Amino acid sequence: MIEKLLLTIVILRTAWQIFLEVLNLLYSTNPKSRIPDMLKDRFTPEVIEKSRSYLKDRTRLKVVSQIVQMFATIYLVLHGLPLLERLFMVYSPLLQAFLFFGALGLILYAVNLPFRLYSIFVIESNYGFNTATKRTFLRDQILTVSLIVAFSMVLIPLLLWLLSHPVWWWQASILVFGFILFFWFIQPLLIAPLFYKFTELEDEELKKKIREFIKKASVKILKIYKVNASKRTKKQNAYVTGIGRSRRLVLYDTLMDYPQDELLAVVGHELGHHVKKHIQKDVLLFSIYAMFQLYLTNFLYRQILKSGAFNVQRPHTIFVYSLLFVSAIAYLLQPLVNYFSRRMEYEADEFSAKLTNTPTSMISALKRLVKANLSNPDPHPLYKVWYYSHPAPGERIKALSRSIRSES
Ligand SMILES: [Zn+2]
Repeated sequence: MIEKLLLTIVILRTAWQIFLEVLNLLYSTNPKSRIPDMLKDRFTPEVIEKSRSYLKDRTRLKVVSQIVQMFATIYLVLHGLPLLERLFMVYSPLLQAFLFFGALGLILYAVNLPFRLYSIFVIESNYGFNTATKRTFLRDQILTVSLIVAFSMVLIPLLLWLLSHPVWWWQASILVFGFILFFWFIQPLLIAPLFYKFTELEDEELKKKIREFIKKASVKILKIYKVNASKRTKKQNAYVTGIGRSRRLVLYDTLMDYPQDELLAVVGHELGHHVKKHIQKDVLLFSIYAMFQLYLTNFLYRQILKSGAFNVQRPHTIFVYSLLFVSAIAYLLQPLVNYFSRRMEYEADEFSAKLTNTPTSMISALKRLVKANLSNPDPHPLYKVWYYSHPAPGERIKALSRSIRSES
């Protein structure tokens, strides 16, 4: 019974994912699809054509990858996980868990690798975005895997300790909360610099302007760095990250040839995230979300344990089965999480417009970003609700233009 339920949920989720992808593609590439008026000056017919074909290529890859992932999951549920469990049965419980998660991680990595390679070295390269060499890619992979192994050395023994209690979700929630704080603190200090180079801004005039800007936003100190994102992509972005002393504002070096007023508007947007305490809100939201998922995982863990479903007995295997259930259920909550995220983006845009005394710089920065990143100018409403952590470009510009009208 539980077996059939899990397989049904996995298949239904994939069907829904594919439905959303196809719906969005048909909607956005329909010749009658409307390009929002405010984007028309930058979105020439050639840019529209290019952005539609970029969307088509990415959607095709996503759909194939979702189907492959579904079959991989079904295989793991029916045969793979019990097989992995039996394979390492002779060792001590801790070694069993290490080998089990190691082998499972390797399988999942191998399933995803072709899609990652195709995405970076075929699609992103074809559209002129990718700048990563094979060497950079390999180095990134080795580093990422090493970090995961290092963290697993601590997390797997902790997990086994937790699973030795019948009710473990609240203890796990406390640990997860501590881990989020720890990770978000060290991420910008220790982890991101393994992959990227962070340097101070060179342009003295720009630096002075940003400092004035920070003062105007009544922010005490905020470190600002430029990151050499151009080593991997031509796409453009900026972000705030870190907790407490590790807090910083990071600008992609690909933004550096922006007109100064637009660059400052982007800085203003990121300052908005900082001033409005969006990272703290994110941590809180993520922790509540994690707690709910852990509660559900614990509940399912006990059901599987009691019913003896799936023919497995080791705590770590049963844990993975419960996690598979919960991740499929959590997919249903994605619209809620993205709803909060989109609201924060509106807030940050509004903050930037106030700080620069005009929304026009932010509007033209957005147009430049959308064109440079070939973002989809007109996603399907349902797709937006499900997946968009940022409002669609047209909606952000519309909200910003409204603030012009309400001012005048
Ligand atoms: Zn933002």
